Amino acid sequence: MDRRITSTAAQAGHLWCLSALMLILWLPGIACSAPGGVEQGTMTVAVTLLPQAGFVEAVGGERVDVVVMVPPGASPHTYELTPEQMVRLSQAEVYVKVGTPVEFELVWMDRLTSANDDMLIVDCSHGIDLIHSHEEEEGANHDHHGVDPHIWLSVSNAIIMVENICEGLMAVDSGNEAYYRANCAAYVAQLRGLQEDLAESMASLEGGTFIVFHPSFGYFARDYGLTQMAVEQGGGEPDAQYIVRLVQEAKAQGARVVFASPQLSTRSAEVIAAEIDADVVIIDPLAEDYIPNMRAIAEAISQVVQ
Ligand SMILES: [Zn+2]
Repeated sequence: MDRRITSTAAQAGHLWCLSALMLILWLPGIACSAPGGVEQGTMTVAVTLLPQAGFVEAVGGERVDVVVMVPPGASPHTYELTPEQMVRLSQAEVYVKVGTPVEFELVWMDRLTSANDDMLIVDCSHGIDLIHSHEEEEGANHDHHGVDPHIWLSVSNAIIMVENICEGLMAVDSGNEAYYRANCAAYVAQLRGLQEDLAESMASLEGGTFIVFHPSFGYFARDYGLTQMAVEQGGGEPDAQYIVRLVQEAKAQGARVVFASPQLSTRSAEVIAAEIDADVVIIDPLAEDYIPNMRAIAEAISQVVQ
């Protein structure tokens, strides 16, 4: 669909819609939206991360067009918004932010919101128990302004995120409240199924440790009583002393695997892995298809927890 044409049409309003009815017949996706809801067509919902896109699609179904800001393969810690994305954003009815201090939102959120005054901002982190760092002075962790930003990698957090998204869609498109509510309930039921399965499969691993290159799995670790040992600290390159300590500890624990993610170079992870005689295994913190991805992550971590 040509979004420029859609945008022009929406701005021109009802009169234009009436007089150009013939034109509308062959332009898919155009809606003459009425006050209080998006009665025809779809609404555009922008999200920061791919897993959020999956959540919005699950709740919004055929009523939403999702625009993802951080594309596949990119990292939300470094990705920079393009002018094309800014244009698409000016057409969005809703922006679903992670709401934690993830660099993409720290850097771009003000510009994202000022590009579109009418856009409702949904904060996915609302109601989530955030992990605060207590070791900022030591700098021995990935502290992003004192809060671990990776909330989506906990199934219990994902349930809250999905419910926040549902509230947002209902607020903007109240005419279809029942539709969003039903989709939300169905998806949350699937997430609760996942939550029960993982609680069961991870139960015997409580107290265990796993090594990750980038510390994405703090909330996951908290859910199952695990410890993630991260190579990266403070969002940047670790210092030599810290690496020596990490390697010693990993060797002492007989660690066999260093987890890395597909969005970041694995070269440094391979250096550390070679040092402790372990393998690098890739797990994806940003896959769009959330439920099977979380099963794959849990399976990979459960195989190596010490
Ligand atoms: Zn991260």
